[in-house]
Amino acid sequence: MVDFALTERQKELKEIALNYAINSVIPRASEADLIPEPDKSFDWELIREASRLGLRTLSVPKDFGGEGADVLTLSIVGETIAYGDLGVAVAFDQTWKIMTAISHLTNDEQRKRWLPRVMDDDTCLLAAAATEPTSGSDTIHPYDGADGGIRLTADKKGDRWVLNGTKRYISNGGLAKVIYVMARTDLSKPPSESIAGFILTSDTPGYSCTEVWDKLGQRTVQNGTLEFKNVEIPEEDVIGTPGNALAEMGAFLTSFGSNIQAGATVLGVAQRAHDITLQYAKQRVQGGKLIFEHQIQAKRLARMQMMLESARFYIWYSGWTSTQGNTDARAASLCKVCASESALNVVQEAFELWAATGYMKKNPIEKLLRDALSFIHSDGTNDVLTLKASRLLGEIEPDDPRYSKRVELAAAGL
Ligand SMILES: Cc1cc2nc3c(=O)[nH]c(=O)nc-3n(C[C@H](O)[C@H](O)[C@H](O)COP(=O)(O)OP(=O)(O)OC[C@H]3O[C@@H](n4cnc5c(N)ncnc54)[C@H](O)[C@@H]3O)c2cc1C
Repeated sequence: MVDFALTERQKELKEIALNYAINSVIPRASEADLIPEPDKSFDWELIREASRLGLRTLSVPKDFGGEGADVLTLSIVGETIAYGDLGVAVAFDQTWKIMTAISHLTNDEQRKRWLPRVMDDDTCLLAAAATEPTSGSDTIHPYDGADGGIRLTADKKGDRWVLNGTKRYISNGGLAKVIYVMARTDLSKPPSESIAGFILTSDTPGYSCTEVWDKLGQRTVQNGTLEFKNVEIPEEDVIGTPGNALAEMGAFLTSFGSNIQAGATVLGVAQRAHDITLQYAKQRVQGGKLIFEHQIQAKRLARMQMMLESARFYIWYSGWTSTQGNTDARAASLCKVCASESALNVVQEAFELWAATGYMKKNPIEKLLRDALSFIHSDGTNDVLTLKASRLLGEIEPDDPRYSKRVELAAAGL
């Protein structure tokens, strides 16, 4: 059975998120986007408002007072908030992902200590720090040489770990009050045997955000450089098995749909681009009639909708497999690639229709182009995610009904 119907609760949450996106986020984010200083554009009032609506803690299990939302629901709400602004949606999406990780990769005692802290503070955002100045894709599509990968070190001293090193480009960097960080316990061993995950609060001595990056898009959320100078973390705040974090976190992010949620958010940008372009086409006159009445432009708008709907259904399918507890790992990577490419295509088509007017900063299209571009790289580059998915294409062996003798001969040059 194939069923695209949303549950009543999903419809309700979508409605709440849409009101928030249109009435609160759009008016504020478009102004914040133009603030030149990257550390001044974040709007805490938007976070407080969403938190009061229950949106901030959607992924926290019901036992701890959250919504217990699954990946499909988070994808739907994430896309809807991103319809208002991608940066604001990313602030929540990262928070949801790390909350889900805390809920699933921790023991009972850790959940009881960390989740109430997150629930009780309307401004508690979370961050996950993997990327470093010399290690990016190496962690997403692991390179297992001891010479590569994460260099931030974790040394065991008694019942504490001492962290030293640098992370960069981290979403919610400088904003997050709770941070999950990956560190290397032994630089002589391959990353698959020497990475550990830790959780800490932003007021831990030795931890600081030393730079907020000035970005092309997503200007309403911060991406920070995080410095760890002799940061002491007690043994009880290690997440999972020290040494095995790459496998544990990798499997977790795949099965719980990190890429799926990321892909969903960028589609919010594309939907916004479509909708304002439809309005423009139905109000702007050239050649004696509305732009929309020129068939080539009506066709353009229909194709924009087609591109984003097909990408959305791929996201929903992938989210659904995750919700069933049987994530389609290939689709989970590819749906983010598809969504980010589709979103860029949709915005580019919108640009064609808006022409010079869309290029002007006063008008809302150029921001969408800058925002959409971020997801070609964020949450893993599209190249690297595609490469990962290609490894899951499988084999077509001679006993497979799809096997073609003619192809075998052709491959042999016959
Ligand atoms: C807006 C934004 C938000 C982000 N938020 C976070 C965050 O919250 N936390 C976090 O940890 N990181 C975050 N990142 C970092 C992001 O995950 C990395 O940028 C990404 O993993 C790529 O790393 P890199 O930029 O160092 O590129 P590199 O890894 O240096 O890649 C450079 C080029 O080489 C290619 N390449 C690399 N390896 C291979 C390979 N094995 N085979 C073929 N091609 C390869 C890449 O596709 C790319 O084209 C964010 C990035 C952006 C842009």
